Amino acid sequence: MRLLNIGSINIDYVYQVEHFLRAGETLEATRRDIFMGGKGLNQSVAAVRSGLNVNHAGVLGKDGLFILDFIKSVGIDTRFLTVNDTVPSGHTVIQVTPDAENAILYFAGTNHLITKEHLCRALDDLTPGDWVLMQNEVNGVPDILSEAKKRGLHTVFNPAPFSDEVLSYPLELVDVLIVNETEAEGILQTQEKDPEVLLDKLRARLLHAHLFLTLGSKGMICELSGPVPYRRLFPAYKVQAVDTTAAGDTFVGYAIGAVMTYFEHGRIEDFEKRIDEAMLAAAICVTQAGAVPSIPDIKEVRKQKV
Ligand code: ATP
Repeated sequence: MRLLNIGSINIDYVYQVEHFLRAGETLEATRRDIFMGGKGLNQSVAAVRSGLNVNHAGVLGKDGLFILDFIKSVGIDTRFLTVNDTVPSGHTVIQVTPDAENAILYFAGTNHLITKEHLCRALDDLTPGDWVLMQNEVNGVPDILSEAKKRGLHTVFNPAPFSDEVLSYPLELVDVLIVNETEAEGILQTQEKDPEVLLDKLRARLLHAHLFLTLGSKGMICELSGPVPYRRLFPAYKVQAVDTTAAGDTFVGYAIGAVMTYFEHGRIEDFEKRIDEAMLAAAICVTQAGAVPSIPDIKEVRKQKV
């Protein structure tokens, strides 16, 4: 089974500043770093490091060629990742103050240039039963969902970052929904905080999907749909958190393998073992700074387990 991620890729320009820019001010930054990021990229990296066969589709600008090289180097198929000559890659300009507060300016750039023809070409390369993943940082999510279902593919949606547009998406076409608490509250338009109640409400909204609700340091609660009811809270591994960036993305990339296994063999014990690895991978991620460099591979996860 293959995974196609139609996903965002960003260049993060991170500036250290004494304070956030004020209106009309010119301020000298004391340091600049450039990182690769974007939820799509992070999730593809997590999925390939978990051992899945991953194809990443999307659009980069010419300024993102260094990321294309990186993606190829980690073994992700890039046949449907195109380069646009005129529009810059999706990017962020991030100000970070000495007390580690940040302010983020995001420009979607090429992340919003995915055409229906492009996504259909990528989907046509798959066979029924393969998997398609998307987040909410690229355009065309409703088209991806409907075209994927026409082709007999399984769909995984992580509506991050949440925007009100998600409310109009055909969520009934989602087979696996992975959300954090903010995204669940957004989809349900509620201020409810109790995870069990949020999951009940998500079930009422998405009758057939497998549901995953991540709860940060409190862990994750999931409910598999099907004739036999299955709902379980997985506590988070206890670790010293350094930087939670990409924890959610690491969980998503790893959890897809667990769901694939469940679809293939229907064995709950195999599913739980893979979810346990996803929880551990996400916990390892928060012990290290950065996004892509902090996503562990499956060997490291299994080494930590023993
Ligand atoms: P982010 O946007 O920071 O990548 P998110 O909000 O999408 O994350 P979270 O619910 O914060 O997602 O975290 C996803 C998973 O990562 C959790 O279910 C948990 O397994 C793990 N995790 C997050 N924070 C911690 C922590 N402090 N300690 C251990 N595990 C954590």
